[in-house]
This record gives sequence, C-alpha cells and structure tokens, in this order.
Amino acid sequence: MIGNGLFGSATTRHLAERGHDVLNIGAASSGPDVRGTPEANWPTHRVYSSHNDAARLTRRQDRDPAWADVTARAVAGYRRLEEASGITFFHDVGCLIVSRPGGDGINADPIEVMGETGVSFTLYEAGDSTWRETWPSINFPATHYVAFEPSPAGYIQPKRLIAAQNTLAQRAGAAFLVDTASRISRADGRFSVETAGGETFLAPKVVVCAGAFTNFNGLLPVPAPVSLKSEVVVLGEVSEADAVALGDAPTVKYLIDVVDLEGIYMVPPVRYDDGRCYIKMGANTTLDHPMTDLDEIQEWFNSDTDPRYLPIFEPVLRTLWPAVEFVSVRTQPCLITYSPDRIPIIEHQGDGLFVATAGNGGGAKGSDAWGERIASLVEQN
Ligand SMILES: Cc1cc2nc3c(=O)[nH]c(=O)nc-3n(C[C@H](O)[C@H](O)[C@H](O)COP(=O)(O)OP(=O)(O)OC[C@H]3O[C@@H](n4cnc5c(N)ncnc54)[C@H](O)[C@@H]3O)c2cc1C
Repeated sequence: MIGNGLFGSATTRHLAERGHDVLNIGAASSGPDVRGTPEANWPTHRVYSSHNDAARLTRRQDRDPAWADVTARAVAGYRRLEEASGITFFHDVGCLIVSRPGGDGINADPIEVMGETGVSFTLYEAGDSTWRETWPSINFPATHYVAFEPSPAGYIQPKRLIAAQNTLAQRAGAAFLVDTASRISRADGRFSVETAGGETFLAPKVVVCAGAFTNFNGLLPVPAPVSLKSEVVVLGEVSEADAVALGDAPTVKYLIDVVDLEGIYMVPPVRYDDGRCYIKMGANTTLDHPMTDLDEIQEWFNSDTDPRYLPIFEPVLRTLWPAVEFVSVRTQPCLITYSPDRIPIIEHQGDGLFVATAGNGGGAKGSDAWGERIASLVEQN
C-alpha cells in the first residue's frame, strides 16, 4: 500500500482485518506546521497531502447515489471506529446550509437536494431571522434561507481518523513504514517498490493511494485520469475563550453572493498542530488554477499563498463572525484532485496494480467506505 492518507489508511485496515499481509508505505502525516506539513524527511521527494488540516465537513447528503450510499455507510461507522481504536475524530455539531431560494445559479438549491435525498432539516425561510436566537455569533444576509441539518452532520478530524484506522490496522497485523515510494516496477511476476529512504520491497499486489501525487514519483505506468486544482483556505485564529464559546457551533455550507467566491465551507474553531485554534473557511475562487507539474506543486505548498487571496477571503470571514476578534487571519494552500466524472477513481490497472484517488474535494467523510471498496477490488483480482 502506497500512501497513508484517508483512502490508504482505510484500505490498509480493511485488508489487514480480512487477514491479508499489508505493508503501508506512507509519508509522515503530522507535524507542527499547519500549512501543508512538510512531510519531508526526504528532500528529493517532498510529498504533501489533502489531509494536513484539522477538520473536514461531513454530511450524509448527496444527490449522486454513488456518493450518498458510500458516505452514509462510512458516517454510520464513525462511532464504532472511535470506540474500537480509542481515538475520537467525529464532532456531530450539525451543519447550517445557507442559500438564496433557488440556489446560486451554479449549485442546485440545497434544500431541494436534501428533500430529494430524505435528509431531515429545520428551515428558516429567507427573511426569518429567528435562527439567530440559536446561533447568535454568526451572521448571514436576510436574502438567504438558513437550514439546519442535525447530527450526524458535522466535521471529522482527518489526522485523528487516520490514526484510528492505523491503530486498528496495526492491531490486525499491518506493518507501517514512514517513507516515500519513489518507483514501482515489475519483474518476475512481482512488483518491486523502491523508496526514497533506500529500501526495496517485493509484493504480488500494490495499491497506490497517493492522492494528488498519484501520477508522480514513478508510481504508475498508466497515469490516472486526474486533474489537480489549487485551493486556498483561510484560517482565522481565535482566542481560547472564543474557541470554548464557539466550539460546538455548526459547520457551514454557504452559497454566497460574492463575485470572486463560490460555495463557502466553514468549520468552527478547531485546535491545530501548533496548539492554536482556528475557524477554517474555504471556497472556490476565481484565482484557482489547474496544476500539472510536481515542481510547481511543491512550490505552491512551500511558498506563501498568492497575496491576492486574503483580501477576497478576510472580509467575508469577518462579516460572518462580526463579534469575533480574530488574533490573526491567514491563508493556506491546498490541492483538490478531480476525476472526469467527479467520482473517486478505484481501478485495477492489471497484474495486481491498483489505484485509488480523486476525492474530488469530498473524499474524507466517506473514506472508510471507499477503503472497504478498494479492499474488495484487491481481493477479487
Ligand atoms: C482544502 C480542502 C478541503 C477539503 N474539504 C473536505 C471536506 O470538508 N470534506 C471531505 O469529505 N473532504 C474534503 N476534502 C477532500 C479530502 O481531504 C480528500 O478527498 C481526501 O483527503 C482524499 O484522500 P486520499 O487518500 O486520496 O489523499 P490524501 O488524503 O491526500 O492522502 C494521500 C497520502 O499519500 C501520501 N503520498 C503521496 N505520494 C506518496 C508516495 N510517493 N509515497 C508515499 N506516500 C505518498 C501523501 O503524503 C498522503 O499522506 C478537502 C480537500 C481539500 C484540499
């Protein structure tokens, strides 16, 4: 198994619990830097990932049955995973879905989708501001309705979910190596996996779960049909008092009317690896751009985010939380991996080489069930 992110850790656990011998080779996934953690003990093969962040939204709702079924199954298993591993990662604080009636012209009207998919919610029509009695700290325009989707909507902490998966996988006999796979080749009916740390492993089957880095580092003879898009989130640091006061605030999906932004997502204060608490907000922006080259990607993660992003994000964050005195506000670079049909790619490339990637910006919440699906494909081929 190459990659110890959301898909790789889940797949490793499912395979190990089904009795298979698994070695997971993955770049380290924790560190003190909240910007894409330099998981680089290996300067020549720097690898970052989509989970180096402290929170991911989770909801059952999705119009596409391929997503809805998988996500629902994973969400239903969160508490079981927490109990079995002893590691908590799920916060069922609910989610506020905020939109103009009819949607924003790009996205369908969220409450129509929720109605179609049978997700229950409490609706405050546009102009009805009684929702403020329950959530007085947050601010939305009166032109928009506010719908509250209760538990199990909320957020998960991706690194803690990975730690839970790894704990259970290890208990079931899986081995782990913190290293970067630098080449996969085939000889004498087996795969040879070389690492940047100078080791070589032979295996009858290899699963590549390398997220945005699937097509780099000589892992696959046939590239996966993914496209990569830059994504930026803003982190608003809050005081300890605000972190406590707002800790149970719901997550937010907000179809905002701002020219440069589309589809706000937001998580209440969460403690990051640097010990500080941040409200995280992200969105598609008109500055986002495709990325194809590994050097360009490393540069993207290593350099300060384009200074044009903060002036777009910061006023929106401050308008959403008018009473919060942010200690600091800054942006953080990330990368989204898309597939052509916007469904994760889970494929057998042949001879026992598998690839699973393309969370399409939403793969964390259902990762346990995607991992289960990958494990089944590996068993069947
Ligand atoms: C800004 C942002 C916000 C998001 N918000 C949400 C959200 O709210 N809800 C949600 O469900 N999803 C969300 N996602 C998507 C989610 O994080 C991804 O879909 C998910 O992380 C995909 O899992 P993965 O295992 O494919 O990739 P990753 O989680 O990125 O894991 C890949 C792993 O492979 C490792 N790796 C790569 N190359 C190698 C190599 N050669 N050798 C060894 N290891 C390697 C990497 O270091 C990494 O640990 C968001 C993504 C981004 C970027």
